[in-house]
Amino acid sequence: MKHKNPAKAVIVDEGGKAEGPGRQEHPPAEIAQKSVKEEAAPASPSGIERRFRQTDLPEHFIECRKHPRIRREQPPVPAPPRFEDYGPIIGKPELDEIRFLARHLRGKTIKMVNSTAVGGGVAEILNRLIPLMNELEIGTRWDVITGGNDFFEVTKGFHNALHGGEYNLTQQIIDIFMAYSEQNRKRMEFNEDLIVIHDPQPVGLVRSKSPEHGKWIWRCHIDLSNPHPRVWEFLKPLVEQYDATIFSAPSFTRQLASPQYLFYPSIDPLSEKNRELPEEFINKVCDDFGIDRSRPVITQISRFDRLKDPTGVVEAYKLVKKYVDCQLVLAGGGATDDPEGAVVLQEVMEAAGDDPDIIILNLPPWSALEINALQRASTVIVQKSLKEGFGLTVTEGLWKEKPVVAGAVGGITSQIVHKLTGVLVHSVEGCAYQIRYLLTHPEFAAQLGKNGKAHAKENFLITVSLKRWLVLFQILLGMAKPNAIL
Ligand code: UDP
Repeated sequence: MKHKNPAKAVIVDEGGKAEGPGRQEHPPAEIAQKSVKEEAAPASPSGIERRFRQTDLPEHFIECRKHPRIRREQPPVPAPPRFEDYGPIIGKPELDEIRFLARHLRGKTIKMVNSTAVGGGVAEILNRLIPLMNELEIGTRWDVITGGNDFFEVTKGFHNALHGGEYNLTQQIIDIFMAYSEQNRKRMEFNEDLIVIHDPQPVGLVRSKSPEHGKWIWRCHIDLSNPHPRVWEFLKPLVEQYDATIFSAPSFTRQLASPQYLFYPSIDPLSEKNRELPEEFINKVCDDFGIDRSRPVITQISRFDRLKDPTGVVEAYKLVKKYVDCQLVLAGGGATDDPEGAVVLQEVMEAAGDDPDIIILNLPPWSALEINALQRASTVIVQKSLKEGFGLTVTEGLWKEKPVVAGAVGGITSQIVHKLTGVLVHSVEGCAYQIRYLLTHPEFAAQLGKNGKAHAKENFLITVSLKRWLVLFQILLGMAKPNAIL
């Protein structure tokens, strides 16, 4: 991508810690701001009006920034990829190894259980993992527990409490949780060789475990490092009945009597979100959203959520913009039906002010291809979270060989090895410093991107997690030694 004036831009730490690969000389005087005659803009797709200052940007860009051409209808869902299709990505030896591991499990039966068939990362992973296991002739079924609103309110409360939130655990809450657990237990059968229960909502099903048959695994996708003590005290005896537990990061675990394993979440390199895209499509998406590909693009893809710190990203961009001509893309979704999301979106709009180079996109849920294109069109990908589970957007950025600047929180620290696979930041100033450094040191940025992709390929692809599952199943069924590969 062509940068307009990279030679002129110089990086300094804006008063925060020095976080870049070497401090630089003081910056030149601010680049003169463009004329600031205001013009009214019509309402944005979110219904929130934004005013743009007049610039010398071609009319086409201004028009598309005011009225981004967002797909309003869900496109048809493509056929899922086949196991064989991963060959060109991971290589034949790796495919053969997975097939070899799977062969030993042929004829075994597995059941995975979670609390929703659509929406959320767990459903997304199961949607891909289960067809692949069946294709490898390991009979795997997926069951979803049911419950009333009262149950899901309780489990949502548990979810927040397990992330450290305040909670008043009453006997009535425990009764609701256990009543639905029992109801689901009666409705379901557990005759499989391996039962995998995902997350806390169905954790109580373990009361159906029999000493004679079946191994039970609890796959916890959330961060349990700082749980509400009473909620955890209530759940822990259930968790300890499992034969194994799996967490997403070393820091997410608790001390437990049962064996623990570490599985990173994964992305599917062949999904619409991550597959290679023709350059014409990327150009079209940029065109539709008014993104100028001749200038650097900084992007954060995230729900409009304060913990993702979108206003911090705007502040960082404004610091960078003083020295490097660039654009900021903030793309998220779900804001219209999430009251907090709409409020945060409004805050972001206000923080962006009249700067026409801040492009805010409120995308519908079927925008995987567009998000993919935005990530691929980016010069730098940012994920300036203040708190984070794992941060799949970071994985997606790494996979696309992009330099990623991200908050040093949660699972992001498993993905970004500072200055090797990306850069970690702790402040707005640090974030600005790193973005500017990367924009002005394209070779270093390219190296980070390469390293990041290798790291993602090694650790965070669906095929890696499939292999780990197969090994763990063999361990639990006594077919492999516990120190085998995991
Ligand atoms: N995402 C999306 N549309 C949006 C915002 C996010 O599809 O408008 C996707 C994003 O690409 C990633 C996931 O949602 O795959 C977010 O996962 P992450 O772990 O980064 O954050 P979470 O939202 O789960 O906290």
